[in-house]
Amino acid sequence: KAKTKGGNRFQFYTAEMNQRSLERLDLENGLRRAIDQGELVVYYQPQVNLRNGAIIGAEALVRWQDPEKGLVMPGSFIALAEETGLIVPLGEWVLRTACSQNKAWQDAGLPKIPVAVNLSARQFAAQDVVELAARILHDTGLAPNYLELELTESAVMADAEAFIRATEKLKGLSIALSIDDFGTGFSSLSYLKRFAIDRLKIDQTFVRDITHDPDSASIALAIISLAHSLKLLAIAEGVETEAQLNFLRARNCDEMQGYFFSPALPADEFEAMLRQGRKLEFQPESKVPGRT
Ligand code: C2E
Ligand code: MG
Ligand code: MG
Ligand code: MG
Repeated sequence: KAKTKGGNRFQFYTAEMNQRSLERLDLENGLRRAIDQGELVVYYQPQVNLRNGAIIGAEALVRWQDPEKGLVMPGSFIALAEETGLIVPLGEWVLRTACSQNKAWQDAGLPKIPVAVNLSARQFAAQDVVELAARILHDTGLAPNYLELELTESAVMADAEAFIRATEKLKGLSIALSIDDFGTGFSSLSYLKRFAIDRLKIDQTFVRDITHDPDSASIALAIISLAHSLKLLAIAEGVETEAQLNFLRARNCDEMQGYFFSPALPADEFEAMLRQGRKLEFQPESKVPGRT
């Protein structure tokens, strides 16, 4: 579009850039206010065991309840939070909120499940997350085996040696670890066996196409085998249909999360689901593809 502006090209770009940096500044100020004034909210998405259908965990996912814009999804602000360093206070707040919420559920007599919290690479580089997690567990009274941390494969590979050292310390504290968005971040297999981790989360792009794209299906199956041969669990993200669910179940994927069972929910709705003991009902074994 700039080409049609001919001689005004330079000015055009400048105006566009100014507009963009103003929007960015606005978002940054808004996010700063959100953190200070309690506009952030944590939603919880159930994770389900693929053998018995029970809820076996929850992933904490942040949202921003903006007074003007309404509910803002993390895709619109996490990247900016990472660039500006706001991810450090934001991440600390999410971790503290998720741990204290989980402890409150346990104190209320609900089934005990671990809560998984996402950490970004920037947080991991900027602070001692092992020390942070230990401090928050101490403050909230949540037992360490009810906390899991998720790091994306690309964040892990940004500094694999530092990650290895941290995983060993986390293991020492009994905090579980999973590698998020697995299959998209080019892990080297020699590193993978040195990580003291518990689960690989199969990226949702593979799950989405699993029933109609042979390449996606092959990658998902390879991740399940890789996880099992390293004595890790495989969890599929983004399961939206019964066909995807049956495919994964028939191929021994251990766990899943996705809209087919439930989206991420506000704390009170998640609590109601956990209290009811809602389960995933499987269709009769004979109808599962690959097992007839
Ligand atoms: P993620 O950790 O890979 O989380 C999974 C995302 O997929 C979530 O999006 C979830 O709501 C969505 N999802 C779950 N089931 C389905 C499904 O069946 N279909 C589809 N299409 N999507 C599904 P959400 O909540 O928008 O979060 C997006 C990303 O933002 C997360 O990806 C994570 O990388 C980041 N994020 C969210 N909360 C935090 C946080 O507290 N800290 C950090 N550092 N990152 C966060
Ligand atoms: Mg995650
Ligand atoms: Mg993911
Ligand atoms: Mg993701």
